Amino acid sequence: MLTESSRRAENALRRSVVTAGDYYIGNLDAGQVLRILDLEGNQAADTLFYSAVDPSERYSAMDTIREQGNIYLTTGSQLRSNANRVMLEIVADTCGRHDTLGGACATESNTVRYALEKRCMHACRDSWMLAIAEHPEFGLSKRDITHNINFFMNVPVTGDGGLTFEDGISAPGKYVEMRAAMDVIVLVSNCPQLNNPCNGYNPTPVELLIWND
Ligand SMILES: [Zn+2]
Repeated sequence: MLTESSRRAENALRRSVVTAGDYYIGNLDAGQVLRILDLEGNQAADTLFYSAVDPSERYSAMDTIREQGNIYLTTGSQLRSNANRVMLEIVADTCGRHDTLGGACATESNTVRYALEKRCMHACRDSWMLAIAEHPEFGLSKRDITHNINFFMNVPVTGDGGLTFEDGISAPGKYVEMRAAMDVIVLVSNCPQLNNPCNGYNPTPVELLIWND
């Protein structure tokens, strides 16, 4: 559902531009609002959330999909944990639909899906691994890297249940905004994928904005 936000960028507490192939890791406290802004359009932001109190509690696509009875994420979606607690709720969305089925790109999946020589290409899983290696203070390890949300990514499900990676439905300036219901750690890989149309074969920056709200 398309919903605009009344929050103004100049009132944000923090703003961070994340280039394609880079990561963002940081805390978002209960009540704070996070916006992910697709600056140039057609980008994919591969995102994981963890409880800041106990990172073994983390975003669960299965619990989220089951409880809302829908596979797409948009305004009103409650992003649930593996303990079936609400971690965040999407409160504004000008893109309209986000994927949580397609998973993140990895060097292994690039090899299987595309070609052996794609193995050396940068992938979201690498960015997440680099983030947790460079920031041990968050207490995350390789086993915490699990199924994720692909904000702005278009993965429609066909009538017979097939999944396809399609050209994006986002555009420059589109955004999604969510309010934290608990203290969370936010881990984002701005996808560097060059082999499928999820980011138009042209990975571009996104911006993260946080309000106290
Ligand atoms: Zn990716």
